[in-house]
Amino acid sequence: MNEKQREENSQVNPEAKKTEKDYSKYFQAVYMPPSLKDAKKRGKEDVQYQSDFSIPEEFKGLGNGKKFYIRTYGCQMNEHDTEVMAGIFAALGYEATDSTEDADVILLNTCAIRENAENKVFGEIGHLKPLKLEKPGLLVGVCGCMSQEESVVNKIMQKHPHIDMIFGTHNIHRLPHILKEAYLSKEMVIEVWSKEGDVIENLPRVRKGTTKGWVNIMYGCDKFCTYCIVPYTRGKERSRRPEEIIHEVRQLAAQGYQEITLLGQNVNAYGKDFKDLDYGLGDLMDELRKIDIPRIRFTTSHPRDFDDRLIEVLAKGGNLLDHIHLPVQSGSSEVLKLMARKYTREHYIELVRKIRTAMPNATLTTDIIVGFPNETDEQFEETLSLYREVEYDSAYTFIYSPREGTPAAKMQDNVPMRVKKERLQRLNSLVKEISAKKMKEYEGKVVEVLVEGESKNNPDVLAGYTEKSKLVNFRGPRETIGNIVKVKVTKAKTWSLDGEMAEEAIEVK
Ligand code: SF4
Repeated sequence: MNEKQREENSQVNPEAKKTEKDYSKYFQAVYMPPSLKDAKKRGKEDVQYQSDFSIPEEFKGLGNGKKFYIRTYGCQMNEHDTEVMAGIFAALGYEATDSTEDADVILLNTCAIRENAENKVFGEIGHLKPLKLEKPGLLVGVCGCMSQEESVVNKIMQKHPHIDMIFGTHNIHRLPHILKEAYLSKEMVIEVWSKEGDVIENLPRVRKGTTKGWVNIMYGCDKFCTYCIVPYTRGKERSRRPEEIIHEVRQLAAQGYQEITLLGQNVNAYGKDFKDLDYGLGDLMDELRKIDIPRIRFTTSHPRDFDDRLIEVLAKGGNLLDHIHLPVQSGSSEVLKLMARKYTREHYIELVRKIRTAMPNATLTTDIIVGFPNETDEQFEETLSLYREVEYDSAYTFIYSPREGTPAAKMQDNVPMRVKKERLQRLNSLVKEISAKKMKEYEGKVVEVLVEGESKNNPDVLAGYTEKSKLVNFRGPRETIGNIVKVKVTKAKTWSLDGEMAEEAIEVK
């Protein structure tokens, strides 16, 4: 539902919000329910670009004297949305707090990618109930990918009436309206548009940290891998205009940021939706590499859309890092077909060959799903053999988790959970073995580390990441935090490196 339809619906029943709590007719009367089916219907309409976002006068000061707390689950896209919501809260006069007890508004920015993630959120919703009873003025909201699912919204309405607001991933810019309505209304405020339409620029944003910045280059995904809920919860692919991205990266460089990660569900599809421009991720990276910022990364890649132009530009090096996260998901072409990944094992291996020919030192990491419905032992063995062949530096590994509304969730599955768990263990042993071997190669070498802060386990030790995303712990002066320094690796562990400062901080602007 777009803005116009929403307004029309509100006009159908302007008194709806004053009725008693009866959610059975709520959607019919006020808003359309979120619908995965509608979300799949990709419209032919052009993407609208809005660059005039501002907080209307009527909302200014809404948060004066109040505090907000946002708990973020899931991926970097959610982290990005949280930064935008924090920006809107700040513009409304709210202050941030890191304690739920202190907060006047609590938002759970949720993730729908696995059942486990959803269960955690429902656990947290339950935990917040006593706090809400204690502080009736408190507003509690659920947003993010889970709120795009009708079943989730229904469950919250039926079982968790202490929730005040539910809003979707396409409604973030409406936060001021939603908050105001939640203050005025006795009812749960629900605003979830199933269809996106716009790319909204100029949203306020409070970034986490001052060293590493995330820059969204596109929204949504049109790939429809059969196991994945993202194309339904995040909508169709919409690319930001290159000039907006370049401007944002320049601003971050001027503010002293050291590392930028370009972000999107499938960044390799960047620009494919432009009607007036023949322009892709390679072209964008070619322009960004000229900006004076030490490190530029991107995530997440889809092997199908990873083209030669991008490889050619990445091979120019400089501030474009050669650590590439390239999710393969399975080493079996048959399973890849069932997953609708739209590439084969052979195509993937050829892509890796091209990348390594152009960038001999490139580091590859990946994502793998084990136990996809009906995966055979032989097919799983193909995943292990592919892993050995590519020799990834590391991998995120998962047992397949069915997501309601996706095609894979309807497949019969003859693989018992015990077998899936055994496969995961075998894969993880291989990941660990190769990762340890790769880390060992760093012993005695000097690496450049972007220092992020104290190590989690020891405040006397500093921690940071290399260009290849290796965690390095070392002793050094605190003034190096936020800078890139040279560190000599003294000891390799499976997942991290220990080292000592090799010289003073490299001077950075
Ligand atoms: S590329 Fe596939 S796995 Fe990635 S977000 Fe799109 S549908 Fe999901």
